[in-house]
Amino acid sequence: MTGDPEAILDLAAESIFTRGLDGRILTWNKASEEVYGWSKQAAIGQHAQEFLKTAFSDPAIEAQAQAIEHGAWEGEITRVTEAGKTLHILARWSVRCGADGAPLDIVETGRDVTALRTSEAALRYSEHRYHNLFGAMAASFWELDFSGVVRMVRGLNLPGFAELRAHLRDHPAFVREMMRATRVIDVNQHTVGLFGAAEKEQLLGNVEPFWPPESTQDYAEGVLQAMSRNANYTTECKLRKADGSTFDALFTAAYPPQTAGKGTVLVGVIDITARKKAFAKLEESESRYRSLFYNMPVSLWRMDSSRLIAVLADLRRQGVTDLDGYMDAHPGFLAHTMNCVEVAEVNQSTLDLFGARDLADMKIPVERYWKSSPQTFRNLIVARFRGDQTFEEETQMNALDGRPIDGLFTVAFPPALNELGISLNAFVDATERVRAQQMLQRVQADFAHASRVSMLGELTASIAHEVNQPLAAIATNAGAGMRWLDRPVPNVDEVRALTGSILADARRAADIIARVRRMATRRDTGMAELSVSEIIEESLRFLSHELQARGVSVSLELESGAPPVWGDRTQLQQVLVNLVVNAVQSMSGTGARRPAIRIETALADPATLHCCVEDSGPGIGADHFGRLFDSFFTTRQDGMGMGLRICRSIIEAHGGRIEADNDARIGGARFSFTLPVAKDVPRRQ
Ligand code: ADP
Repeated sequence: MTGDPEAILDLAAESIFTRGLDGRILTWNKASEEVYGWSKQAAIGQHAQEFLKTAFSDPAIEAQAQAIEHGAWEGEITRVTEAGKTLHILARWSVRCGADGAPLDIVETGRDVTALRTSEAALRYSEHRYHNLFGAMAASFWELDFSGVVRMVRGLNLPGFAELRAHLRDHPAFVREMMRATRVIDVNQHTVGLFGAAEKEQLLGNVEPFWPPESTQDYAEGVLQAMSRNANYTTECKLRKADGSTFDALFTAAYPPQTAGKGTVLVGVIDITARKKAFAKLEESESRYRSLFYNMPVSLWRMDSSRLIAVLADLRRQGVTDLDGYMDAHPGFLAHTMNCVEVAEVNQSTLDLFGARDLADMKIPVERYWKSSPQTFRNLIVARFRGDQTFEEETQMNALDGRPIDGLFTVAFPPALNELGISLNAFVDATERVRAQQMLQRVQADFAHASRVSMLGELTASIAHEVNQPLAAIATNAGAGMRWLDRPVPNVDEVRALTGSILADARRAADIIARVRRMATRRDTGMAELSVSEIIEESLRFLSHELQARGVSVSLELESGAPPVWGDRTQLQQVLVNLVVNAVQSMSGTGARRPAIRIETALADPATLHCCVEDSGPGIGADHFGRLFDSFFTTRQDGMGMGLRICRSIIEAHGGRIEADNDARIGGARFSFTLPVAKDVPRRQ
């Protein structure tokens, strides 16, 4: 060797160094400095393998490497640089010998292949991972040979992509043919299960059996995507199992550029039947909710209450527990809470009822809907604060033009909706019902009045007679008085006594007239605790003359100490008078038996007072029972047929029942009714 051999070695791109037979480094070129990071000074004299932390991939290679004294060795080793980085070195060792043939030293040329190795390792790793995925994923994977399809498409010789698309669309048989040309190279285990195959081999033919006719175009689209060099294609379609049944699949085909030349395609299939079902269910329930919401013939409101919920939560944090009390102390709070609620959605019934054209019309401050009944909103807030999940109240809401609407207001705020800041309100319009009820009451009152007047008409003779009695007495007494005064010495004491009688008779007459007037004029009714015995006695007093005139004997068996009932005095009197008058009328002219009436009261149970009015008349005709209490049912020539109808409506309005039979102890008809005793009736005053 001539010149400075080391200077030449410094020009080499590869690491070259020599070591003696004892392993110590003798020369160290520039590239070695770069590769290992050690300077020449640092390296020379060091034991090469220890210094560079040389490692062999296995002991056999190491042994082989150590035994090179007479030749050369080449292999891959790892070494650690000065900076501590592990390098992969492809090393070539050659033994140099002296003129005598004895080994002198070992020259090593080394190439850093670290970058190469790590990318290879990554590749191996990803391949390994892919294999794992392919085998173990909960998805079905197919490796397909697509080359036959590519050939078929080329064979068509179509000028462009649009023409291919049209051809595939118009020739489904050709697409099916392409499926038969698509070979299955491999599938994973999951595929065997998903497609219901007995074993993997059953699937390794072509793909045609797995594509039901309705999915032909999905497959065609996959081919088109592959041709247009899209990296992958995903679609939802039906695929077919081995047993012929179909299922909903998410189909993905990947055409990685590397495999394009080979014509292989990787396909993934995921069974989305369950997902589709769940989605369809959700969609169905959503659309059911929508159509319910919009088409219900009840006014429905979806409210955005998120701000209200926040305000209430804030109050709770401040330690407020009694919202009612808090609202009393903070009069402005109610208006504030109303401002925290907004109309989010309403249905057609709401628009119609409140006089709005669309939702935008309805989005006014909530306050205006509660102008007539702010108390209802307050009760609602209190209920909500208390943690109730629903709230209901009969109330009035105000339409857009301010007109009050009677109705039943219901809100639901279950926790699930609370989280969304939603509450659902319903308002059942009761205007018609309330109006009908009022009308019914008026008609009923009119009828009751008419019937009372007509009954009084019937009693005119009797009343005239009754009034006549005191009037006759007055006339007689007045005449006697005059006579005492006409005496030469007027007897003032006699006149005083007679005048006293006149006064008493005049009062009696006035009483009778007042009684008749009370019956005839319609007074506003009032509920009170009443003694039924008293009402019976009053009614009999009213009819006393009639009873006497007709020679009717009356016997009473009244429960002593019966509890009071809750009722309307005039109305209950009317019931008694009607029943007694009916009894009297039924007995008139029959002549067979002695006319008698028996009235009995008894406690049927601690909460119910029972009263019956019996007569000794002919009883009720067998075929009349069903219609007795109907309006306008009468067997009397001048009858109106309203008496019993009115009795029934009065008794039922008092929470009782009335019925008729022929089981009177004294032989005729028996009318029985019940009335709840006062303590069990809700007080409405
Ligand atoms: P009216 O007295 O105008 O006929 P009501 O409704 O009071 O109307 O009575 C209806 C019918 O019931 C009577 O026409 C009669 O046929 C029958 N009725 C009522 N009370 C009695 C009774 N005590 N005995 C027999 N029939 C009766």
